[in-house]
Amino acid sequence: MTSTVTPTATDPAEVYRDGLAHGELRYQRCAWCSTRFSSVSLLCATCGGADFVWERSSGRGRIHALPGPLGPGDRQERTAVVELDEGFRVLAKLAPTAAHRIWRGAPVRLEVAETDDGSLRPVFRPIAA
Ligand SMILES: [Zn+2]
Repeated sequence: MTSTVTPTATDPAEVYRDGLAHGELRYQRCAWCSTRFSSVSLLCATCGGADFVWERSSGRGRIHALPGPLGPGDRQERTAVVELDEGFRVLAKLAPTAAHRIWRGAPVRLEVAETDDGSLRPVFRPIAA
């Protein structure tokens, strides 16, 4: 379920990073038209509104698209467009997963991974049996 976040920071990028540090994906919802955005916006692309509410995603969604072909080796890291249950899409890495568990429509769950430079990024793990 979604819930509203009361940010402790004013910098949207920091609010987003704070979310990852808590293991959650935060996103902005336009206060005027309720369009949800996965990336930080100053103006709503739908209605031009400038008021946003922060919410946290359930972290559950489905693979919407898989850009590019599967490479050699079936546990290679892949990128996917994931549609979250809240109705917005993000482009993110998939956690290393056997290729037969990755398909369009496969359910996925958010995990937070640390990159080589120590920053955090969202990754999605297919959870189909
Ligand atoms: Zn709007």
